Amino acid sequence: MNSMEQAAYRHDRPGPPDFAVVGGGLVGRLVAWQLAGAGHRVALYGRGDEAGTQSAAWVAAAMLAPLAEAASAEPLVVGLGAASLERWPGVLAQLPEPVYFQRNGTLVVWHGADRAEAPLFERRLRANAPAALLDGGFVKLAGAQVAQAEPPLGTRFAQGWLLPNEGQLDNRQALRALAAGLKSRGVRTYWNTPVDALPDARWIVDCRGLGGKPAWPALRGIRGEVARVHAPGIGLTRPVRLLHPRYPLYIAPKQDDLYVIGATEVEGEDMSPVSVRSALELLSAAFAVHPGFGEARILELNSHCRPTLPDHRPAIVWDGARTLRVNGLYRHGFMIAPEVADAACGLAQALASGAVGSHDAFDAFRAAARWTELFHAEFAATAAH
Ligand SMILES: Cc1cc2nc3c(=O)[nH]c(=O)nc-3n(C[C@H](O)[C@H](O)[C@H](O)COP(=O)(O)OP(=O)(O)OC[C@H]3O[C@@H](n4cnc5c(N)ncnc54)[C@H](O)[C@@H]3O)c2cc1C
Repeated sequence: MNSMEQAAYRHDRPGPPDFAVVGGGLVGRLVAWQLAGAGHRVALYGRGDEAGTQSAAWVAAAMLAPLAEAASAEPLVVGLGAASLERWPGVLAQLPEPVYFQRNGTLVVWHGADRAEAPLFERRLRANAPAALLDGGFVKLAGAQVAQAEPPLGTRFAQGWLLPNEGQLDNRQALRALAAGLKSRGVRTYWNTPVDALPDARWIVDCRGLGGKPAWPALRGIRGEVARVHAPGIGLTRPVRLLHPRYPLYIAPKQDDLYVIGATEVEGEDMSPVSVRSALELLSAAFAVHPGFGEARILELNSHCRPTLPDHRPAIVWDGARTLRVNGLYRHGFMIAPEVADAACGLAQALASGAVGSHDAFDAFRAAARWTELFHAEFAATAAH
């Protein structure tokens, strides 16, 4: 049997699926795809559509920047990000549709008025980043070196840092390719199907992002607003980050002269359209980086909320029975998803095989796991959420 026939065979068997994955955003798609690839019968329920338009993942810039994020993120997140960056090309190579992936670094710059931000950012980044990421991964630029690294910026910035190892991908292409991957692996998908009670399956993996709040009250939203513009002729070759006193601003160039400009960080679960103030700030920032953005065409102003736990770290929680919850990816979903999804699938399969079925077995699994701090159980002394 070829892989398509095997997938069809799995679904033709009667009875509930082995796993019901709830939430069809970034994490739910990856988890369902990986579990199906391991030979399990999987169903996926998503409140939104197949394109993923109702997920935070749809709005995201999908920068894969563990070193730049080290200025504010915890070491666990930085480590997950560095490992996931290596893993993404292998994941994308297995999907049935192409996804734009770039590994050409991040450029960090700042305007003279915000120069006080630079030493603060550098100090925090050096304190949180492992030596392996910093080694050759942080290059100081001055004067003409900025323009040499990113010619479209010319002489507008006197200083900058090139973080040459970082990457980015196209979030919407990734969601589409994952949806195609679910089909080819025989995952039974139920789009436009909100789920609040547990579906019929042996095991449930809850990946509802902020929609999982009823089961996980500690979750909160942090609103982010972005602009998508079409700006032919500018030619930025990599994401450019602009240090800013209130939140990190960035301009991420995608294919075909598309730029994602983001993103605000506002506490709260407000999913309303982008405010005028935020639109002005984002678009002015882009215009100040390159006046060519004055002639760009605004394709979209959009907002969503990042699913966030109190410690701003992701978590995988076993409820001690048949449900796993995977959540809290905050502003780092794309950056860390391959490792988080892989860790969640590892625990899901250990539950399904009976290898983990007790407190002691869970603690042993957790202790042996690469990312120990990711795992929590509601009954265990180690539970944190
Ligand atoms: C403005 C912005 C910019 C960002 N930029 C980046 C970036 O550059 N790099 C990066 O790594 N990350 C970025 N992120 C973060 C990233 O998008 C999130 O961390 C990631 O999407 C979280 O994945 P998730 O699957 O947990 O949640 P989501 O992607 O939100 O998916 C959750 C899914 O669950 C569904 N759902 C909810 N409730 C139910 C229900 N009751 N039943 C069924 N389905 C349900 C939702 O419809 C949704 O499809 C950004 C986020 C935002 C908002």
